[in-house]
Amino acid sequence: MQKKIITRFAPSPTGYLHIGGLRTALYNYLYAKNRGGKFLLRIEDTDLKRNSQEATQAIIEAFKWCGLHCDEEIVYQSKRLELYKQYIQKLLDEKKAYYCYTSKEELDELRKAQEARKERPRYDGRYRDFKGIAPSGIEPVVRIKAPLSGEISFNDGIKGEIKFKVADILDDFIIARSDGTPTYNFTVVIDDALMGISDVIRGDDHLSNTPKQIVLYEALGFEIPQFFHLAMIHGEDGKKLSKRHGATDVMEYKAMGILPEALLNFLVRLGWSHNDDEIFSLAELEKLFNPHHISKSASSYSFKKLEWLNAHYIKTLPFERINQQLKDLNFDLSAVHKAGFLLDILRQRAKTLLELILGAKSILEPPKHYDEVAVKKFVNDENLIFLEKFANALKAQSNAKEFEDFTNEFLEKNGIKLKDIAQALRIALTGNAVSPSIFEVLEFLGIQECKQRIQKFLEFRKKQ
Ligand code: GLU
Repeated sequence: MQKKIITRFAPSPTGYLHIGGLRTALYNYLYAKNRGGKFLLRIEDTDLKRNSQEATQAIIEAFKWCGLHCDEEIVYQSKRLELYKQYIQKLLDEKKAYYCYTSKEELDELRKAQEARKERPRYDGRYRDFKGIAPSGIEPVVRIKAPLSGEISFNDGIKGEIKFKVADILDDFIIARSDGTPTYNFTVVIDDALMGISDVIRGDDHLSNTPKQIVLYEALGFEIPQFFHLAMIHGEDGKKLSKRHGATDVMEYKAMGILPEALLNFLVRLGWSHNDDEIFSLAELEKLFNPHHISKSASSYSFKKLEWLNAHYIKTLPFERINQQLKDLNFDLSAVHKAGFLLDILRQRAKTLLELILGAKSILEPPKHYDEVAVKKFVNDENLIFLEKFANALKAQSNAKEFEDFTNEFLEKNGIKLKDIAQALRIALTGNAVSPSIFEVLEFLGIQECKQRIQKFLEFRKKQ
């Protein structure tokens, strides 16, 4: 029988949901879904100085927007402090951990002496087997009795066999600070074990924590999960992804008019592939995803690729879904006459929802002003004459194709080409030269409205 897969995403709420974090969450989510398991969310908010309520809310909001649902109540570490204390006490009672009274000054001295001997700075275990009377005036920390020699190894689902020499990385590290609060590695292990986490997919910036966590799993008698450490996302220059390369906050993508479908599709491909396929719906990913196929090497972020995917989803998603996302950007097509047609006209070329909104506004609202650069470039006295003639000749047609035929006849009669008036017509109808097919705009607006807009433009030009 296959084991039950339970995965988790465990962000520390220090700001916003980073797109790298969302990729980690997505991989965990997909693996759980693929194997009929569970995906859980845990907020690691024990660092009261660095964590905030707003940051937690921002993460939850971003999750909602992406449509990644967790299968149980969200776990907050800040509500589990008593539980951690119980396990620290257990390790103390079993003599697997001990109180350490070394003062800060003593630790500084120790470090300096080790540095002078060119040794790795590490705690020397002086209270490991201490039987004497505790020095007064010092609130002790609790340290784990870590192995003193040998190796710690595990089989990473992405990187393969990983071995750490105890001498190179371990000492009796602190599991509870002098104020009694547990440290990061300790809470992660307690929670992963008690939440039944079978598989941990996380960034390889956590790789050096893993041997410490394994020491704790063993001391506590918990089963060690399967680890997968993901290579970081890089910018196109090969450097670690940062704000210099593009937005890192998931919600900034929402504000830019990126669809969650596109962002998730984009992120999943930063490190995972299936044949040469590029387009995957969430449902398809749930069927296909296997973390053992995640690439070992770092993958690189390209905004162009994201835009390309976004354009694909804008073109193909149902009206209701697009409109739901538009509403989040304070634009609503629900009450617009022929809204489906308008969306079909616009979505052929919009790369973002913001472009789509701009396009929709430029068609729905008669222009309040005209793009100066476009006017200078495309409008002259000659094409204005034809524009006026065109407005006068314009007759009702039943669709864009008929408007095209009608326009072609007009052009032929007047011995001009479409390019001679197309941009001027666009500017007159929408205020700029980037609208979709003018024949579709003519169909959408109807001839009355078009005539009025052209007239208004001609008047505006006369006044100049
Ligand atoms: N809270 C850690 C972070 O935000 C993640 C812990 C883990 O995945 O093990 O980086």
